[in-house]
Amino acid sequence: MDEVVVRFADGSELRVPRGTTLAEVARARGESQALVALVDGVPTDLSARLERDATVRFLRFEDPQGRSVFWHSSAHLLAQAVKELFPHAKLAIGPPIEDGFYYDIDVGRPLEPEDLQRIEERMRELAARDQTIERVELPRAEAVRRYQEAGERYKLELLEAIPDERVSFYRQDGFWDMCRGPHLPRTGLIRAVKVLGSSGAYWRGDERREMLQRVYGISFPDPAQLEAYLQRLEEARRRDHRRLGRELDLFSIEESVGPGLVLWHPRGAVVRRCIEEFLREELDRRGYAWVYTPHVAREALWEQSGHLSWYRDNMFSGIEIEGQRYLVKPMNCPFHIAVYASRTRSYRELPVRLAEFGTVYRYERSGVLHGLLRVRMITQDDAHIFCAPHQIEDEICGLLDLAFRVHRAFGFSSYEVTLSLRDPATPDKYAGDPEVWERAEAALEAALRREGVAYTRAPGEANFYGPKIDVYFFDALGRKWQLTTVQLDFVLPERFGLEYVGEDNRPHRPVMVHRAILGSLERFFGILIEHYAGAFPLWLAPEQVRVLPVADRHAAYAQDVRDRLRAAGLRAESDLRAEKVTKKVRDAQVWKVPYMLVVGDREAEGGTVSVRHRTAGDLGPMPLEAFIQRARAEVTSRTAS
Ligand SMILES: [Zn+2]
Ligand SMILES: [Zn+2]
Repeated sequence: MDEVVVRFADGSELRVPRGTTLAEVARARGESQALVALVDGVPTDLSARLERDATVRFLRFEDPQGRSVFWHSSAHLLAQAVKELFPHAKLAIGPPIEDGFYYDIDVGRPLEPEDLQRIEERMRELAARDQTIERVELPRAEAVRRYQEAGERYKLELLEAIPDERVSFYRQDGFWDMCRGPHLPRTGLIRAVKVLGSSGAYWRGDERREMLQRVYGISFPDPAQLEAYLQRLEEARRRDHRRLGRELDLFSIEESVGPGLVLWHPRGAVVRRCIEEFLREELDRRGYAWVYTPHVAREALWEQSGHLSWYRDNMFSGIEIEGQRYLVKPMNCPFHIAVYASRTRSYRELPVRLAEFGTVYRYERSGVLHGLLRVRMITQDDAHIFCAPHQIEDEICGLLDLAFRVHRAFGFSSYEVTLSLRDPATPDKYAGDPEVWERAEAALEAALRREGVAYTRAPGEANFYGPKIDVYFFDALGRKWQLTTVQLDFVLPERFGLEYVGEDNRPHRPVMVHRAILGSLERFFGILIEHYAGAFPLWLAPEQVRVLPVADRHAAYAQDVRDRLRAAGLRAESDLRAEKVTKKVRDAQVWKVPYMLVVGDREAEGGTVSVRHRTAGDLGPMPLEAFIQRARAEVTSRTAS
């Protein structure tokens, strides 16, 4: 009999008659959750037939690629529902995205909430009908004819860009959509679906073209997963840093100042100062030197650094002073290089570690700006290390240790690390000596192992100027953020002719390391606000203690308590309003103040305070001095919760 050999990741093999479908193979393997298959690495429909020997891996919803196919098929389902409800609607594109899917459609008007409701209901009906999803290939001319007849002008435009003579479609009942696939075998696998909303979107992202409606949705194989997703979404909404930033008076971005330019209000500025002080302490202990550098520099400097050739589009336009062109800095590197190069360096002073909270400016389109997470002014906790090649490993170990220590203080414990290396297949893509690369990559890997850090190798992901390590942390909602980055650079030392005098009394070229632990203070603050839902731990809290007098006659004692707290270095306020103390407690809770000290007759007489904690509740009376000790210990230890 004519057979093909199917190999699996676990090393096992299966012989099946040539022409067997992947669905049959999945059944034979007991892969009941399979949505789609990777055949020799290529995502393929389960209905496809095996015509030759192949390695096969079945993908489920849990696999990112499987999930992506699931959501892509859900987008088709959305389009099918739209076409049934609005037969004149014209379809554009409908891809899966990070979290769900969307479809861009033209219905000639904005969609109302009732429309979305109806679309969602129809999607559920269509899914429950368990329609078979079929791949059909048509000759190009036939595809054009179909879309012309249907007046699907967006699809026709897409079709123009496809050079192939045969075009693939996916069909479920009477609904056809031009698509490369792959797709789920049937719609019944989509057991839970939610249309999340819609917004205007220009055809092809071009504001001169038609305004379409982008309908967003999410779907799952199990209704319980949808339930959990919606809860997470609600929690994220509750924690939205833009909302909390306003409610807690932490920061604002004012139209009059400009989009993406952050105003740190006093309460936000306190948090930032605490973060900066913490980092300063850590870096001082690790032999860093602090510098301050200008916000602008001559165009020629950016020419020499190479930014003009590869980063110009992200830079603010220039300023003219006394006939000289100056540019606002998008990065701090050239300045730190200038500090290094300002005098002769000896091998004895290496590594030179220069640190700065440097505010840089980058042009981001106004459409992508998002609260503190995407801004146009970025204060990096930046540093550059200049070292000899043999020092790389130790420096990287130090940086990993620093990164984990710092992030632990903010309650980030689970992480992922990527080590980005050269693509061995395209050595020409990278600048610098291959031998130096070799050694540097080995040093990075050795450092990761020495520090016991779990990491993933990413060949081909290195910068053209050097390999790098990226550290991602997971926040309280399980969202992943890239925070720490450590990048080796073999190019800038070359471009600026950096040197140090070696033991042999001859000039040598140092290696340069760019690194940021938090990334950008603006973005990190946005992440922290959401991570803590605005309830900062004591060491970061803008207002640590609020003193609440029970009645007017306790005001003097309350002020005295507040002043003694301040003298002890605690950030304290008092609430002297003529309100009931219960109301004052409620308000302090709204402001997420960690400690509330209630003072009345008994407290004033005995020099005590009645302590209430934001989450732990009533802690009872204690001498003021005892409370101060306790609070100070909590601040000094930088307890994360
Ligand atoms: Zn599609
Ligand atoms: Zn840099």
